[in-house]
Amino acid sequence: MSNVEAIAGDDLRDLYRELILDHARKPRHFGKLEGATHRAEGINPLCGDKLKLYLAIEGGNTIRDASFEGSGCAISVASASLLTDTVIGLDVADAMHWFDGVIERLTGSGPDGKTDLGKLHALEGVREFPSRVKCATLAWHALQSAIEKQSGPATTE
Ligand code: ZN
Repeated sequence: MSNVEAIAGDDLRDLYRELILDHARKPRHFGKLEGATHRAEGINPLCGDKLKLYLAIEGGNTIRDASFEGSGCAISVASASLLTDTVIGLDVADAMHWFDGVIERLTGSGPDGKTDLGKLHALEGVREFPSRVKCATLAWHALQSAIEKQSGPATTE
């Protein structure tokens, strides 16, 4: 992760740089999740980001726990870390609401200001850098795949 400072300094607004750096350096919920009921792999060939997302969904509805492992650039790792922080304790429907919001805000596919991303707003800095958007959305695509139990790896392509 020697390029953390370079990426953050050049590409992200100062206001949210620290949050991204913090999660990239000290990813939360990193590692394989024992007792996972759902899992998905995400691959972003553009950047070389590769991660596995694990979910433990209780009663088919509540995300009791989540974790991820893998390797990638600072933004992909920070995004996955923020994702796990966000979805633990949520119902599946609420987690998918976050998925929709993040994809909408980061790809500009929805009207601006429709979704309040809270601390996930930190990820919006990538909007100015299209090549980085897929790094930030990778974990979220894996979340969708895991929840929908799609077979095969999720990819940003
Ligand atoms: Zn990346």
